[in-house]
Amino acid sequence: MFRSHRYGLITSIVGIVAITVLLFVYRNLVWHVLVEHETKSHATLTQVFSNTIWPRYALFLADASQFSKAELQHHEVIHRLQQDVARYIARSSVVKIKIYDLTGITVFSTDPAQIGQDKSHNPGFISANKGVPTGKITFRDRFNTFEGVIVDRNLVSSYIPVRISENAPVEAVFEVYSDVTDLVVDIKKHQWEIIAWVVGSLSLCYLFLLVIVRRADKTIQAQDKQRLDDEAKIHYQAHYDALTGLHNRISFAERLEEALKRARRAGRMLGLLQFDLDRFKLVNDSLGQSAGDQVLRTSAKRMLVCIRESDMVFRTGSDQFAIIIEPLRNTEDVSRLASRVIESMAEPIKVNDQDLTVTVSIGISIFPQDDLSAEMLVKNSDSAMHLAKQEGRNQYRYYSPAMKQHALDRLEFETGLKQALQNDEFVLYYQPRVETKSEEIVAVEALLRWAHAERGLVPPNSFIPLLEQMGLINSVGEWVLRTACQQTKKWHDAGMSRVRVSVNISSGQFRVRSFVDMVQDALDQSGLDAQYLELELTESVLIENIDTAVKVMDDLKAIGVAISIDDFGSGYSSLNYLKLLPLDFLKIDRTFVKDLATNEKDMAIIKTIAALAHSLNIKLVAEGVEESGQVEFLRSQDCYELQGFLFSPPVPSAAIPDMISTQVVSRAV
Ligand code: C2E
Ligand code: MG
Ligand code: MG
Repeated sequence: MFRSHRYGLITSIVGIVAITVLLFVYRNLVWHVLVEHETKSHATLTQVFSNTIWPRYALFLADASQFSKAELQHHEVIHRLQQDVARYIARSSVVKIKIYDLTGITVFSTDPAQIGQDKSHNPGFISANKGVPTGKITFRDRFNTFEGVIVDRNLVSSYIPVRISENAPVEAVFEVYSDVTDLVVDIKKHQWEIIAWVVGSLSLCYLFLLVIVRRADKTIQAQDKQRLDDEAKIHYQAHYDALTGLHNRISFAERLEEALKRARRAGRMLGLLQFDLDRFKLVNDSLGQSAGDQVLRTSAKRMLVCIRESDMVFRTGSDQFAIIIEPLRNTEDVSRLASRVIESMAEPIKVNDQDLTVTVSIGISIFPQDDLSAEMLVKNSDSAMHLAKQEGRNQYRYYSPAMKQHALDRLEFETGLKQALQNDEFVLYYQPRVETKSEEIVAVEALLRWAHAERGLVPPNSFIPLLEQMGLINSVGEWVLRTACQQTKKWHDAGMSRVRVSVNISSGQFRVRSFVDMVQDALDQSGLDAQYLELELTESVLIENIDTAVKVMDDLKAIGVAISIDDFGSGYSSLNYLKLLPLDFLKIDRTFVKDLATNEKDMAIIKTIAALAHSLNIKLVAEGVEESGQVEFLRSQDCYELQGFLFSPPVPSAAIPDMISTQVVSRAV
């Protein structure tokens, strides 16, 4: 991770090094200036010397080499010179003076012990001998001056050529020592002050920088963390389902490919289970989306309990799930898992204080025996799942090659269905509805059939859901309504003027905005009086959007059409809506009528529904009436109309006039 305060630290260190180097350069410069300044003042001193004292001693000193060292040290001239020099330099910073003749021999020194020493090789002497003065600064812990020994001193020593005039030849070389200790102490003190200032301000700067950089660092780190969190969130959203927390469809495709690769490489089997919740749409439609969500969440949790750690569960669609089993040892493992899932779902799910039982239909495909590609494995398990559904739901089915044929047949069926309307292959059958009191036909229900060239008359349950899925239900439904109206008008014209017709309406049709206009148009076109038309709606149609449903039904009532609720009691209905709707009939679902004679609970339910309908002033209709015993009970409950095989199955339109005129419906048994 990027840590900017490190860069701040490095920058500060570089700054400190740069300042140290600058201070060092500055110090040397100061020394240089000091030495230069001292050397200049030594030159001035020498000049003054050569103008005043020198002429008196020049001759003697020029010949001094003829004396021995000892003679020279004790010579009376030297002694005098000693005194002159002392007088000159007394109370000045000069602490020592030496004089060399042109051969480099020390002919005079305020320290007599040094007289006679040879300095001809000294670079300072050589330079001064050539006329160029030089100087340097040295530290001496002990030094002999003309006034005695001094300790720990900084001295500037300069070699100065002695000339009578500016362009005159060099006659001798002076070496002058001056004590610059006080100056040096001063300079050093200043230097320390500067260093203290620089280091102090630098430290402050660094501290300031550190605070800023730390803050920036924290902000950057926080941003980094936020970015990583966002990335993780985006990744999560892309790969997980928010509702159940399971891997989603995208993840499924990726993981299946990966798992297949592994299985292929290792030569192992892989199992794919695909399943969806049976009748989930009904739960969602009748109890609302939040109830549906709760069912999905609970189902997902139960599935997770069923699987091994290495297996993965996915939510691949609204109520669709998948499990990848990899590695798979044998097919029994898959069967066991599928059974476990089915069992785990058997326990009711509590939603809004209601116990719902949701079952699953599972389709299974196995790699490598079924197919090698991920796409085909998915397709195959999907076909197997559809088979499990068709064969009664709440079970699992393995994919078999025969299903391929089945899938092809289904495709052909769908293609045929698309053309059925143009090809005039739909027909309406009519099932009589008799008045309980008189047992006379008062109405007929129009029931759709598909006259298939090879399959014969196809019942609506096997193609109406397909029409809905394929988006064809509106056009076919319109045809049904118009045909039923025209047919009923024909019967009226033929003298059967009391008969009503009821037409089933699917939710897809009901949602279309122009639905009421279409109904009005069908009535206008056929010339049928609106009071003879009844529309049968299922509970799910109403629950989807009760406000719109009430509005549409009010409009239908306004044009004079009767409305009934079909298959009442089969959905997860809320009785609350009944009081909101302008209903004329309630058709009890035939499952309650079926076992009426033997099932006391069904009896109780019908009694309750009957009481409810009467209190709301809605007429009760019973469908699926097959036995006379049922008729008696229904009569006792003031059921207004009866419909069922006991009176007549659905018949072609041509059969109806005879039935009405002779009332042949009166009890088939
Ligand atoms: P539904 O509206 O409840 O129609 C009654 C169904 O019960 C009919 O099945 C009828 O043949 C059957 N039935 C009547 N009496 C008895 C009986 O005594 N015993 C038994 N076991 N069954 C009896 P069908 O014609 O197969 O229709 C099935 C469903 O298809 C209908 O149920 C209805 O929901 C739907 N349907 C039929 N025609 C249309 C249509 O034109 N449009 C729409 N949207 N749905 C339709
Ligand atoms: Mg019906
Ligand atoms: Mg029904």
